[in-house]
Amino acid sequence: MTNKFIHFIANWKMFGDINSIKSLNKVIKFSNIYKKKKFSIIYCPPYTLLNLFSRKVKNTRILLGAQNCHHEQKNSAFTGSISAKMIKKLGAKYVIVGHSEVRDAGETDLLVNKKIKTLIDNNLKIILCIGETLSQKKKKQTFKVLKNQISRGLKGIKKKNNILIAYEPIWSIGTGIIPKIFDLDRKIKYLKNFLIKKIKIKNPKVLYGGSVNHKNITYLKKIDILDGFLIGGASHSPKKFIDIIKKTFI
Ligand code: PEP
Repeated sequence: MTNKFIHFIANWKMFGDINSIKSLNKVIKFSNIYKKKKFSIIYCPPYTLLNLFSRKVKNTRILLGAQNCHHEQKNSAFTGSISAKMIKKLGAKYVIVGHSEVRDAGETDLLVNKKIKTLIDNNLKIILCIGETLSQKKKKQTFKVLKNQISRGLKGIKKKNNILIAYEPIWSIGTGIIPKIFDLDRKIKYLKNFLIKKIKIKNPKVLYGGSVNHKNITYLKKIDILDGFLIGGASHSPKKFIDIIKKTFI
């Protein structure tokens, strides 16, 4: 993995406040020193921190992302929602869609699809999360679930070059359990093949997410075909997050 371009996405979920700027500063400092390595860091803090973080990451190699957005294009009467346009104006470049925690709260593949269309219209890049539950895995439905999430989420989408696919087995998110290397390698190869042949993405980028930490990264980075990692819990600590990045390249 050490010679290719790697994406590190920090998903802060519903964590972080004004003091989190200290964490960000440490990571900015690190990324300036580590200039020669080929990677991107995409910070996805809660909406409340986007403005502050956006000013801080200007002229650094750190990019900003939002954790979700509303599917409607036009700003309208949607209490509690944020539009793609608002996110764009704050300086974010990416938006996560299809995260299992959002799907759990009612986001369907159809909504994922609408959000992706809105994001493309606003020139935002997409981090599309897909993944199977433990029960689907046990019933050997994983490939079917992943194929459906991709096909439905990307239905009718022509511009597919700005989409990162994050494979996140739901049984792995926040549990400390990660897939076996052989199994994960097989899934990523399958996904890339499907994205090339059926979805017609020339050079698909597939990331892994689910309990990535500074210890298991040494194991996960053996999967050469991966293009990066989506990191939840471990990305809140600048030390652990930096350690993950460093160990990926050692
Ligand atoms: C996530 O937020 O998508 C995630 C993978 O979380 P964690 O790293 O904590 O499992």
